This record gives sequence, structure tokens and C-alpha cells, in this order.
Amino acid sequence: PDGPQSPLFDGLNPQQLEAVKYRGPALLIVAGAGSGKTSVLTRRVAGLIESREAWPSQILAITFTNKAAAEMRERVRGLLGQASDGMWISTFHSSCVRILRREAESAGLSTNFSIYDSADTKVTIKRIIKQLDADTMGFTPGNVASKISKLKNELADVDSYARNANMSDPQEVMFVEIFRQYTRRLREASALDFDDLIGETVFLFRAFPKVAALYRRRFRHILVDEYQDTNHAQYALVRELTRPVEAELADDMEDQGLHVKNLQDATGRIPGASLTVVGDSDQSIYAFRGASSRNITEFERDFPGTKVILLEQNYRSTQNILSAANAVIGNNFDRREKRLWSAGGDGEKIVGYTAYNGHDEAQFVADEVEALHRKGMAYRDMAVFYRTNAQTRALEEILVRAAVPYRVVGGTKFYERAEIKDALAYLIAVANPQDELALRRILNTPKRGIGPATETQLGSFAETNGISFRQAMRDSGGLGLGPKVTGAILKLATLLDSAALMMDPQNPAGPANVSDLLTYLLDGSGLLAVLRGSRDAQDEVRAENIEELVAQTKDFNRENPDAGLVDFLTQVSLVAAADDLDDASGTVSLMTLHTAKGLEYEAVFLTGIEEGLLPHQMSAGEPGGPAEERRLFYVGITRARQRLYLSLAMTRAQFGDVNVAMPSRYLQEIPADLIDWKQSPGMANSRGGTQSRALNARPGGGGFGSRSGTPGQLPPAPKPKTEWANRVTAQVRDNGDLTLNPGDRIRHVDFGDGRVNQVTGEGTKRIAHVQFDTSGAKKLLIKIAPIEKI
Ligand code: ATP
Ligand code: MG
Repeated sequence: PDGPQSPLFDGLNPQQLEAVKYRGPALLIVAGAGSGKTSVLTRRVAGLIESREAWPSQILAITFTNKAAAEMRERVRGLLGQASDGMWISTFHSSCVRILRREAESAGLSTNFSIYDSADTKVTIKRIIKQLDADTMGFTPGNVASKISKLKNELADVDSYARNANMSDPQEVMFVEIFRQYTRRLREASALDFDDLIGETVFLFRAFPKVAALYRRRFRHILVDEYQDTNHAQYALVRELTRPVEAELADDMEDQGLHVKNLQDATGRIPGASLTVVGDSDQSIYAFRGASSRNITEFERDFPGTKVILLEQNYRSTQNILSAANAVIGNNFDRREKRLWSAGGDGEKIVGYTAYNGHDEAQFVADEVEALHRKGMAYRDMAVFYRTNAQTRALEEILVRAAVPYRVVGGTKFYERAEIKDALAYLIAVANPQDELALRRILNTPKRGIGPATETQLGSFAETNGISFRQAMRDSGGLGLGPKVTGAILKLATLLDSAALMMDPQNPAGPANVSDLLTYLLDGSGLLAVLRGSRDAQDEVRAENIEELVAQTKDFNRENPDAGLVDFLTQVSLVAAADDLDDASGTVSLMTLHTAKGLEYEAVFLTGIEEGLLPHQMSAGEPGGPAEERRLFYVGITRARQRLYLSLAMTRAQFGDVNVAMPSRYLQEIPADLIDWKQSPGMANSRGGTQSRALNARPGGGGFGSRSGTPGQLPPAPKPKTEWANRVTAQVRDNGDLTLNPGDRIRHVDFGDGRVNQVTGEGTKRIAHVQFDTSGAKKLLIKIAPIEKI
């Protein structure tokens, strides 16, 4: 294995080689994007096993997404030619769920605890806010949820928070009360939210040294990818796992037959696990969730004896793309200067495009995708990134029309669909009878005549009698609810109880599998039948989705013959945004910049490079916000291997409003000679337009189109900021004083002649609703639309 001929070391540069071979307590690999950090981590794992320094079971590798975990497992298998059975390669959350389910008893949990996603959390908080009338004080489920999440990421619980809170402030008193009730409800429901998964594991290790010792003994090598995005709780977890086991405890373990002798050092301790972390502070994009690249900068202090290795050669991108990335990130101060370089040559120039609006931008993307495809690039090697999910609308519309196969990664996730959550709630109610949230969800879904008043009555009945909601359902006969309602409640309770019997391990027929259970529940509740019988076309789609879920449970049974209901639900809960990436499929990937982290594509389209989107307007008030947004831009740029496209629109529809957009401040940070600007045909004569659009007839000419100084001739040399911005926005016609009334005839540069039907909005936001003679109905922002009255 340590011979230079081992394929593990093939093609590595000297720094990478050192990083793969280094042995010691702590190794920090800091390096820019695409320099092989993840590759090196993977080879280290394979190297440890191949050299017999570690059994697979002694390795814990933490990745950012389940998808990245699967990829690493695959690569290790590729390198070793053997399955990496017993090795834990997973996300922080998955590892913690495994630990908590195993150690449920010590952790004071039931093994079948539910996992609340952010929607579940918000519903729960919403109910509490309502009950406490806290909305009148300005509390919303959103702001409470994010505050609680931040606190949990700092490992604060309600008691520790309350101790330091200013209890003379009514806002604080109310927040503490909400937090307290939220904590109580989760406990009663035997549920953990996402942040709890990490925090509870840390608390478990701190409270039970013997439990912690089991995992410290087991994991001898811990490796963490994307370390810059770990938050305090995750950092604390890594700390706990890498502590030594004291001699006394180690001897105890030996006495109990746990075989630790070979691990003990001269003093009898089991030394802490070796820790390898890799990261890039320039790619830290989760500060808003409490991540702190401080974890990287202070690693050397926290883990004495750390070896630091820097990687500088980038293997992913062309030099032009890298130069742009370097120039942009160079504007963040307070960072370790690093210069990425590539041996891959300059490559093509970056293509810039200023569109008239979001649709025009989407059309440009579709045209270029098709052009690349015609030249032989596979669709799956292309990706389109955006800052906010709202931007997908226009993109999807145009891509569908252009028949470009695409897929939105992590958009409205399958498991977040209402009908899927309904079906899952039936499963959860069986797995965890304490889960009141799930029970309330299915109480009247499908409709069985159980109204909100009845739901409230059941809830208070449970509370006053100190019984669970589920028990209250069983006992509802004495509530005087009327025979029909009572019958409906009892029928549901019986359905769930008999389903629970099917899953009982003592069941002589053996516990049923997940798909049989789901089918049983769907039949018994009528959920699917109701959707199928509906005349609403949307219900048809919902029924299909539920059928897809049934198909998934069948796959799950086949792939995990020994796994049960709780395993299935856990898997569902942990599917992260980036996980439904299916790279075998020949489709263009659409995703947010956050989801793009760690990935790479031959061609990347970065869309909406505008003020307000990137940097996002929400970042403006946050300290460090614009710097974090710049890192996000840097992450986006560095995903591209060969071709990079940057696009922006001059007007952008948002929340039903059309706004004038300004070029992002980050654009001018890219040296002008790296970008080849193209222009929207709606803005200038056809000279600079993209091929297909240049063919468009342009009635009327003149006006908007005849202005000079197009983005196609953008500055050959860097310009002062304002001037640059002015030159782009100078394209925007100002019709501020144009008065239009219903009935007026107008002429539009692209759409031809039409009739104004209606004018809405005020001042600079006046919008003309126009029926064009040949181009259909359109809404135009009067101030800047290329129109004139005829
Ligand atoms: P990011 O910061 O974006 O997560 P990274 O540092 O983890 O990037 P990798 O994804 O490991 O980088 O590597 C980037 C690309 O470079 C991959 O396609 C990888 O296979 C390739 N690569 C890494 N090292 C080498 C090498 N020595 N020779 C050839 N290709 C390499
Ligand atoms: Mg990586």
C-alpha cells in the first residue's frame, strides 16, 4: 500500500500525496475549491483500510449530504475493490440518529422517536403561538423557529437560555414560554427536531461517559468534509468523539470483555481518535444557520499538534474560470490569501448576458444549453444555479417549451408534498403512538366529519386526564360527541391499533413489511380511494404521488430486507436537498447555489446576478452578509469545469411585482477581459444577439433598440463601479412620463402592436396589461418597456 505503485496514489500531486499518507492525531487540509479535498479524504479512508491500519468499522467519515456519502462509499469501493461494510460514511444527522436509536434508553428516548422536519416544527410552534396569543406580540412561526434553531446549534436548551434571559422584558418572557412549551411538546410526542439530533447526542456523551467511551473506542479515525460549514453543536460532537478514554474506564471496558488492550497506551488510556478535517473558509455559506468557519481558523488551537496541508492546484476548472473566482473572493478581507491555479489552460471566456427580463434570460439559457448539446455535451453535464427558488418558474417554463430535459434538485421536495406527508403521518402514527402531530394530521384526512372543535375537545380531554391523544381517541365514546363523529374517531383508532399489531415483532405471522403496512392503512382509511375518486385534476396527481410512495416502500423492502418501519421513516426524514440528484439521468440540473456545494459540472449557468438576488436583499442588514453572499458566488463560479455563463435581467418579476434590476456589485469584480458579453436582442440591434434570437423580426426598430453602448461592448478595461453600472442600466429606456390609458394602441420592439386593456400600479411601478395583435397578452412595466404610443 505504501509503494508508489498503489493505485491509491495515482496521479496525486506532492501535497495531496502528503495529505493521503500523513499519520498523526490531527490533520487540517485547507484549500480552495476543486483542489481535491474530497478526493484526498476519500483516498485517506481507502488507504487506512488497504494498509490494515484500520478496520472499516473503525472509520467515521462525515459528509455534507447523503448523496456525498453514497459517492464516497462508491469511490472507496472503486479504490479497494471491496465493499466497505461496517464503515460509517454519513452526514452528521444520520450518524447521530444511529447513535440515538441505539442508545435511546440512556438518552431517555424511545427507540421509535419521530424526527420533525422544519415544517413539522413550524406547525407545532404555530399552535403554541396561537394558544398563547403570542402573534399579537409579533411572534411568527418562522422567526421563533429560526431563533430556537440558532440556540440549539449553540447547544443552549430552554433552561440555560432562561437563566440568562432578561425576564423583565415581556418579549423575552414570552419567547422563553414558547420555547419551553415547544420543548415539552416534543418530549411528549417522543420527537426530536433536526437540531436536536446533534445536540442530544452531545448531551448524551457528556452525561454518560460510558456510552461516550463505546464510540471513542470504536471510531479510531474520524474524517470531516466541508468542515467550514459545521456549527458549534457539530464541532462539539467531533470534540466529544475524539477525546481519549481514561485509563480507569478503559480497564473497566477490558474487564467487561470489550477488548481494548491493544488500543491502550503506556498510561492505560485509549488515546483520542485521529481527526482529519478538510475545508475552505471561502466556501462557508451557512453562517445564517450558525455555521462558523471559526472552526477552521481555530482548529490548530483546539487540536494541538495539528498538521496543516495546503493544496493550491485546481483540477476542476479552466484558468479563466479560476481567475474570475480568485478576483471575486479577493474582495473579502479577513481571509487567508490563496491563489488557485490550473494546468488546464485558459479555456473559453466566460459568457455574460444581460437579458431584458427573466423570460429572456431563461430563453438565453435554453438556447445555450441546446447549442452545447448539439456540440456533444450531455445534458447531465450542465447545471443552472440561482439564488432563490422563485427564479425557477421562468426557467422551467422556457425549458419545457424548448423541450430541454431538466430536473429541479431539491425544489418542492417529494416528501414535503401534502399528500405524501398525509400518507407518512399514518405510518408515523403506527410507529410512534405518542406523536400527536401525526395523529392530528390524519384525524380528518381524508374527511370523515371530525371538525376542529372535536379536535380541540380531544386535546383538552387528553390534557385534563393526563392521557395521550391516541388514548383520548380510544376513550372518546364518553365525550358525548354524537354517534357519527364518535364512530369515525373509533374507526380510525382501531385502524391504527390493528396496524400496530401487524408490526408487532411477536406477531406469529412475523411483522409485516412497510409496503404491506402502507397499503393496509391506505385501504383502511380510504385516503387513496378518495383522491382517485375526485374530479379535481390535482387530486389525480396526488394519487399518483402516493402510488409512487408505495413503490418506494417496495424498493425499500427489497433493498433492506431486515429493516423495519422506523428505518424507513428515518431514511425519509434524512433525505437532504442534494440527495435526489440522479446523475445517471440525462437531464440538466437546476438548483440553488446552496445546494450546488461540492458538486461540479462541465457547464454552469449562474443566473440572476443582480443586486437584491446576489447579494440577496435579506443579507443587507446582516453583519458579514454581503461577504457571505460573495462566498456563495464564489462557490457557484467554482462548480464549472469548462464553460461558465453569467446572466442577469434588467427587470425581474418578484412577488407579482416587476422591478428594475441592477447588476450585482460582484460582477464588476471580475476582470472585464475574462467575460465576453452578449446582449438581449430586445435591447440592441441583432449584432450581438444570440443566434436564434437574432432572427427575430423587430417591428418598429428605433426607440429602445437603437441606443448605443450595449452590454455587448462592455468595458474592455475595468471601469469605476458606478460608471459600469450606469452603462448597463443606460440600456433601460425611461418612459417615466408616458401616460397610458385603456384603449390606447402601442408598439413594442419585440411584440409588435397591441392594445392597452388596463393600467395598474403607481408611479415607477405602473404596469400596462396589453393584448398584442400577434404576441398574446403581456404585462409590461411602463417605465422601462421598449414601447411607444401609436
Ligand atoms: P470543493 O471545494 O468544490 O468541494 P474539492 O477540493 O473537494 O472541491 P474535489 O471535488 O476532490 O475537490 O476534486 C475536484 C476535481 O478534481 C474532481 O473531478 C477530482 O476528480 C479532480 N482531481 C483532484 N485531484 C486530482 C489529481 N491529482 N489529478 C487529476 N484530477 C484530480
Ligand atoms: Mg469537496
